[in-house]
Amino acid sequence: MFIGHYALGLASRKISKLPSLALLFIAAQWLDLIWPIFVLLGIETFHIEIGNTQITPLSFDFYPYSHSLLMAIVWGLMLGTVYYLFTKNKQGSTLLGALVLSHWVLDFITHRPDLPLSPFSDVKVGLGLWNHSVLAIIIELGLFILGTVLYYRYAKPQKKISFWLLIGFFVVIYFMNILGAPPPNVQAVAWSANLMWLFVIWAWWIEKK
Ligand SMILES: [Zn+2]
Repeated sequence: MFIGHYALGLASRKISKLPSLALLFIAAQWLDLIWPIFVLLGIETFHIEIGNTQITPLSFDFYPYSHSLLMAIVWGLMLGTVYYLFTKNKQGSTLLGALVLSHWVLDFITHRPDLPLSPFSDVKVGLGLWNHSVLAIIIELGLFILGTVLYYRYAKPQKKISFWLLIGFFVVIYFMNILGAPPPNVQAVAWSANLMWLFVIWAWWIEKK
């Protein structure tokens, strides 16, 4: 998933006034934020294969450090703990930890069986929603609309134009990913994936007083 992860970050505002939207985005997308870095470092690998699933040509060959179930739990505990050390906010740290883990759960629903259970296991899982493109788009867009509505209602963003621009930008990128030409090579995907930090900065800006 892509915007489905951000949907959960947005929806989290219904549960808590804190953490900031920037941190909610970081947690919900943590596995995908560290993945391109691991790829560029040569620690994890993927290749481009048209038709790998109906939704994406990316074939995730090896990514146990960013995307195994065990490591998702470890990353979630880490992020939650760091937040707790700084804020002493139990609810916020639990929320961030759960968001990190939610990324794995959503990927488990969408990816074909390419998600390892742990770096020490050869078992790979995934329900493969990405092989049913219409259903996948309906579910992900539905999640995103729900997240947007919940955030808007509970956060009442002051910077309305920035907020709606961000929402619109997400939808445009989402459909460009699905309908656009496949990426030229692995390096281009890995480098451009780092642009996801832009959404974090954007989210920070929306909530900045
Ligand atoms: Zn992912």
